[in-house]
Amino acid sequence: MHKRILIVEDEASIRDMVSFALRKADMEAIAAADARAAQIAIAEQVPDLILLDWMLPGMSGLDLARRLRKEELSREIPIIMLTARGEEMDRVNGLEAGVDDYVVKPFSTRELIARIKAVLRRSQGDDGSGMVELGGLRIDGPAHRVFAGEEPVPIGPTEYRLLYFFMTHAERVYTRAQLLDHVWGGSVYVEERTVDVHIRRLRKTLEPWQLDAMVQTVRGSGYRFSANT
Ligand code: CA
Repeated sequence: MHKRILIVEDEASIRDMVSFALRKADMEAIAAADARAAQIAIAEQVPDLILLDWMLPGMSGLDLARRLRKEELSREIPIIMLTARGEEMDRVNGLEAGVDDYVVKPFSTRELIARIKAVLRRSQGDDGSGMVELGGLRIDGPAHRVFAGEEPVPIGPTEYRLLYFFMTHAERVYTRAQLLDHVWGGSVYVEERTVDVHIRRLRKTLEPWQLDAMVQTVRGSGYRFSANT
């Protein structure tokens, strides 16, 4: 699954350079020139990570970061701030706003991609080996198997994909449409009700280990996978 990265930057040359580097690194690049465009892009589809320029016209990158942290849909999206030299003293403000990392301009795209991968690994509990562990559950990605403690969990193929997506995107809320897009690959003829059916099956799958409460319904929004039950 390609990681979707949103770059919010008003300088077209940097936007283009970063978008190019992201695609070369096998990631999907979405570009926005200001905070407003970024919010529209996020509402359309939640990205896996946001690269956020500090100095934007209109709402600043810092204010946008604060705002994103307040909203349920965007609260858990990792943010890497792009700052110019001299803005580093504002790091404290950035940390308060919930920013995950900084890259100081001018940066090499190689450095930027490395930082993106590190933040993604940290935030998604996947160390790159395809092994994911969370809240007593473990997925062995290469073997396509799920374990609760040491016990193998019998699981259907769709429930497996759903669980894998949830465990690598924990603590975030996804709408049914977003889950369809991420887990079913955006097949237009699958109804949103289908998501509810597989959510129910996933809960049933996890029930014998009392882990079904991790699959949470967020009223009016969608679903969230959380280790905090
Ligand atoms: Ca700028």
